Amino acid sequence: MRWDLHVHTTASDGAWTPTEVVLSAAEGGLRGISITDHDTVAGVPEAIEAARGAGLILIPGTELSTTLEDVELHILGYGIDPENEALRARGAAARARRRERMVEMIERLRVASGFAIDFVDVEQRAGGPNGMIGRPHLAAAMVEAGHIPTVNAAFDDWIADEHDAYVPTDLGTPAQAIEAIHGAGGVAIWAHPRSDRLDSMLPGLVEVGLDGVECYRPGYTARHIKKRAAAAKAHGLMVSGGSDWHSPDRNEKLGRFWSTSGQLKLLRERLGVE
Ligand code: AMP
Ligand code: MN
Ligand code: MN
Ligand code: MN
Repeated sequence: MRWDLHVHTTASDGAWTPTEVVLSAAEGGLRGISITDHDTVAGVPEAIEAARGAGLILIPGTELSTTLEDVELHILGYGIDPENEALRARGAAARARRRERMVEMIERLRVASGFAIDFVDVEQRAGGPNGMIGRPHLAAAMVEAGHIPTVNAAFDDWIADEHDAYVPTDLGTPAQAIEAIHGAGGVAIWAHPRSDRLDSMLPGLVEVGLDGVECYRPGYTARHIKKRAAAAKAHGLMVSGGSDWHSPDRNEKLGRFWSTSGQLKLLRERLGVE
């Protein structure tokens, strides 16, 4: 059986609606997926409904942005209750904070580069005032305005973490995100941990309740996987895997990448999916 436990939709910075994602995943031969939008579960109900029709297993998920020692860490939550009040409240706060942060980034970008980007243009790319606005929406607006040739160049030259225009999302610590995920009945997994941070930060994250690490991901070499799997094993953690799918321009088709049932055994057992 094939699984992809890291997929974005229009509920955050993905190009396709939850229904489009589910249909494409089924067509790609996947048995199950998780919808993991940034700081929201807004896409989950639609995905559950679509999955029912498509005969696909849908694991309710999210990917929470957090800050630790001035670096941005992403914590995936799986098996969460999408109706959970505290998680929804965090989502509403994140939505407001991300808007404020985008206004600030647009101003900093103007100072640094002279590019004039309209907030409303960026907001519309995120699906309007209720969207979860993020840097990919800003990058798309920069490309469309002709300031830079590609989304990647926008990140590389102007809006990646190391540039002046960057403003942190500032949505709380990993400990708080893990607590919110646990409170909603879910499992907390560290998304795409960098090798150096895996060494320095994993023990502290385990101490505050982290349940697992993402081990399988497109582009990871055998060495990447081995390092993450060994760290997980050493701490008695679960492992997960997913494509981090965002769009057909940025990623391969859904179903080209998959994790096997065997790789995800502990996580599947905890989530109760066959
Ligand atoms: P934000 O959550 O607003 O800080 O935006 C982070 C998102 O930007 C990530 O989830 C990716 O979807 C995207 N992203 C990050 N780095 C890059 C990059 N170098 N090129 C393209 N997209 C990126
Ligand atoms: Mn993203
Ligand atoms: Mn991420
Ligand atoms: Mn992601």
